Amino acid sequence: MYYGFDIGGTKIEFGAFNEQLERVTTKRVPTPTDSYDTLLDVVTQLVTEHDHEFGVEGKVGIGIPGIEDAITGAVLTSNIPAAKGHTLRCDLEARLGRTVTVDNDANCFALSEAWDESLRHEPGVLGLILGTGFGGGMVFNGKVFSGMNHVGGELGHARLPIDAWFHLGENAPLLQCGCGKKGCLDNYLSGRGFELLYQAYYGETLKAPMIIEQYHIGEVKAVEHVDRFLELLAICFANIFTGLDPNVVVLGGGLSNFDVIYDELPKRLPQHLLSVSRPPKIIKAKYGDAGGVRGAAFLNLK
Ligand SMILES: [Zn+2]
Repeated sequence: MYYGFDIGGTKIEFGAFNEQLERVTTKRVPTPTDSYDTLLDVVTQLVTEHDHEFGVEGKVGIGIPGIEDAITGAVLTSNIPAAKGHTLRCDLEARLGRTVTVDNDANCFALSEAWDESLRHEPGVLGLILGTGFGGGMVFNGKVFSGMNHVGGELGHARLPIDAWFHLGENAPLLQCGCGKKGCLDNYLSGRGFELLYQAYYGETLKAPMIIEQYHIGEVKAVEHVDRFLELLAICFANIFTGLDPNVVVLGGGLSNFDVIYDELPKRLPQHLLSVSRPPKIIKAKYGDAGGVRGAAFLNLK
């Protein structure tokens, strides 16, 4: 059995998957907000309970909205105060008497999609999230690649490429990122970025669904904005693809439901790629919110 925990700011989702990778159990409990010990108790209890039920020692994978420090093992996260700064993996291993795997939730998202039956044979699957923020995860041959510092796939904090800056023109806003740098992709390619750019060019604050609605009825500013944004996506994605050359790219997050993206990117990408490169297949994520727990469970797949 493969156990996955998707630990979020408000709830912990637990899922158990059998050897056929089918989900056989789902549980949701609130995330303890202040006590680290309570958090460890909750995870330990769910594991013990299900070991007993299934008569096996399940393999445990944990997805967190943050990063495990590659040297100290401390969890770097602002969304789970109870776990912040604690060595979650080591402490759970001590309690459970088995290996525990911890990874970033964006990597779990990518891994979940990469193990879908239709993508399992693909050597390189890149998951990109166009949500409140922009982030990603890389899966090569069925395994997450998170790099020496566990920041592999943190594409939201790569900066705008120079051709993107020229594309945005002289009124381009140089946006400040939460990481302390300016020009991070997170602030441009996310749903939030989609809104920030609209505001920067037209001085109006509109939510993304409203801008998209206006686009569909042919409103001039919205059409211009969407065209500018799609070209920006193509430029930034092409730069990422030149580095990683994935076979398939899976898009998640709210903005991934904007279907025009899937028609436009294949047309717009080639001119920004190396001449020998073909664009990867770009598809919408299949598992939505369930991807976190699936991916966490699949961290232990060989
Ligand atoms: Zn940043």
